[in-house]
Amino acid sequence: MRNYIDEAEQALLHTYNRYQVVFERGDGVYLYDMDGKKYLDFVAGIAVFALGYHNQEYNDALKNQIDRIIHTSNYYYNVPAIEAAKKLKAVSGMDRVFFTNSGAEAVEGAVKTARKYAYLKDGRTDHEIIAMNHSFHGRTMGALSVTGNPHYREAFEPMIGNIRFADLNDFDSVLRQTTDRTCAILFETVQGEGGIWPATEEFMHRVRALCDERDILLILDEIQCGMGRTGEMFAWQRFGVKPDVMTTAKALGCGVPVGAFLMTERVGQNSLKAGDHGTTYGGNPLACAAVCKVLELYEKMEITAHVREVGAYLESRLDSVAEQFACVRARRGVGLMQGLVFDRPVGDIITRAMDKGLVLINAGTDIIRFVPPLIIDRQNVDDMAAILTESIREVCGGC
Ligand SMILES: *Cc1c(COP(=O)(O)O)cnc(C)c1O
Repeated sequence: MRNYIDEAEQALLHTYNRYQVVFERGDGVYLYDMDGKKYLDFVAGIAVFALGYHNQEYNDALKNQIDRIIHTSNYYYNVPAIEAAKKLKAVSGMDRVFFTNSGAEAVEGAVKTARKYAYLKDGRTDHEIIAMNHSFHGRTMGALSVTGNPHYREAFEPMIGNIRFADLNDFDSVLRQTTDRTCAILFETVQGEGGIWPATEEFMHRVRALCDERDILLILDEIQCGMGRTGEMFAWQRFGVKPDVMTTAKALGCGVPVGAFLMTERVGQNSLKAGDHGTTYGGNPLACAAVCKVLELYEKMEITAHVREVGAYLESRLDSVAEQFACVRARRGVGLMQGLVFDRPVGDIITRAMDKGLVLINAGTDIIRFVPPLIIDRQNVDDMAAILTESIREVCGGC
């Protein structure tokens, strides 16, 4: 394993500080490294592998598609994309789908949709977008421009113009940033990288009402919190508030790189037209075969009901860990998207947990994030809590 890690550091651009492990295979909620060591996985490749590793039906669907055709381009129709779009419309209640290769690319498309929608109304090219502080929308220039973390942006200035930042769950801060040129308000229904902050019901309703009143598009980024993670297929479905445009990715293909942005019919009819937007790979048959099978398995396995049940259990177990240690400040989250907030950086705790066979990840420096495969059961939660407790005790003491 050491040799491979050394070779990686010679060949790959060093844009990540990686944990010193090479994972070789997965099975269910477990990962195995090259030395055969087994790990319980509470990261799922960052909220991606929702159905767990080595799901035979999923693997077979991909293999079958590979033997048929992998790619044709968007100049032709392909059946997996048609089926995937139909299924995605059904679970989201949205009307039009554009498939992308990643989350960031879906955000780019959503931003272009909003600008074109506003442009068609008044022909102006100075429209503004309101995004949130502490948000994360991806690393490409447009997505970075709406990401509310100055550290990520600074060296790459100038960003795309006319982005204003407000605070999630502070409606007045949104109102203060709203002008007659605002074309969209964009946020994650549950902020992920920024520290697991769920939007409140009141905030959702007030922003929706503002958008309706001023014909502003509400764009919800469901890339991390969507696809069942909160116990609903998409996190906004808990509120009875519907976005005009939404983005999805991460768990959408359960490991095959695919994302999408979706919109209502009204926005679809009044925004991007033939020639306005494109992508070579987006929606290719292989990626869409994955999306089809994932959505089929979600239904068959009753994933959202399972998440509501096991998510409540994870919450209660994390609450008791939080009570036990003074160094844990709070627990936040919804369903199987949870964070424990510490009074110190969490890197050492995560490294200890890795040594003991538990994969965890941070969100920011002081928060441990829990985004496991959605198929975890209570026993997995108990096993996780036991290793977590030990790891915290070793780093923070018996506090
Ligand atoms: C991960 C993430 C993105 C970016 O997705 P990529 O596939 O990494 O480009 C965008 N928004 C949110 C909320 C995310 O969690």
